Amino acid sequence: MRRCLKCSAKSVVYLPQHRLALCKEHYLEWYLKRVEDTIKEFRMFDRTNRVLVAVSGGKDSLSLWDALLSLGYKMDGLYINLGIGHYSELSRKVCEEFAKSKKAVLHTVELEKDMASIPSLKEMEKRPVCSLCGQIKRYYLNRYARELGYEVIATGHNLDDETATLFSNTLSWQLEYLKRQYPVLSEGNGFVRKVKPLFKMSEKENALYAFLRGINFVEEECPFAEGASSVEYKRLLSQIEEKSPGTKLRFYTEFIRRVHPILKQEGGVPIGACSVCGEPTTSDVCSVCRLKARLSLGSSSSSPSS
Ligand code: SF4
Ligand code: ZN
Ligand code: ZN
Repeated sequence: MRRCLKCSAKSVVYLPQHRLALCKEHYLEWYLKRVEDTIKEFRMFDRTNRVLVAVSGGKDSLSLWDALLSLGYKMDGLYINLGIGHYSELSRKVCEEFAKSKKAVLHTVELEKDMASIPSLKEMEKRPVCSLCGQIKRYYLNRYARELGYEVIATGHNLDDETATLFSNTLSWQLEYLKRQYPVLSEGNGFVRKVKPLFKMSEKENALYAFLRGINFVEEECPFAEGASSVEYKRLLSQIEEKSPGTKLRFYTEFIRRVHPILKQEGGVPIGACSVCGEPTTSDVCSVCRLKARLSLGSSSSSPSS
């Protein structure tokens, strides 16, 4: 049995990539400090900013919300009900209970009321459901954060998510996507600033934080997750990580330190406002409004409920 490196008590975890064994108290302290240091290192936000955290009911987003509240940041939540049957119902309940226990504000967007549920859209569209779902979530997050007056959107993307995306974008040399892969995306052109304060924390580290803090999160995966290519990339990268601890963190941090600055010099594609809804887009009408038009719902919209 390893002993905590800070106090010699019985450890609850050994983090091989950091060669660190910690007890419960010192793990929670280490986790919060690492999140706080990341926020400061990348100048994500400060305690005067109004921040909206995107919550799904999973361990990552609820750990993020909990950690940021514990660190004293002003932080409300936004839950997008994707209408994925039992999974969405459970996620919604867990987010509402969490918000209530923290006396925090939770805004909810009902996708089915505004356009259609993800399962219905999946039937209509040919492309992979996760790419469609990701695009829709980004759209609603940005739109409601701006309309509700938030300056920053924080998401619970972890190291496993970020390295799987980096790996996928590198395999196909998606330069436009690689340019946008950074822990902070600046505000401007209709975009609210987006930040990923947990990008250095692994899935396991977030799960342990949630467990030790007694957070009730949804363990069930979205039924559409299994077929996603990102799941396979995560599996592959975890095999490498097991043999060589620290690989994921090095892969990602060296990308943002050495490669991203070069890609950034090229500049991005020009952004305008959607002629229907006003959200930022690279074409005349944004992809969500085009989807709505196909659903024959026009551009009618609803406001999030709190
Ligand atoms: Fe959406 Fe895919 Fe995530 Fe399910 S797994 S919530 S469909 S992105
Ligand atoms: Zn200790
Ligand atoms: Zn639009």
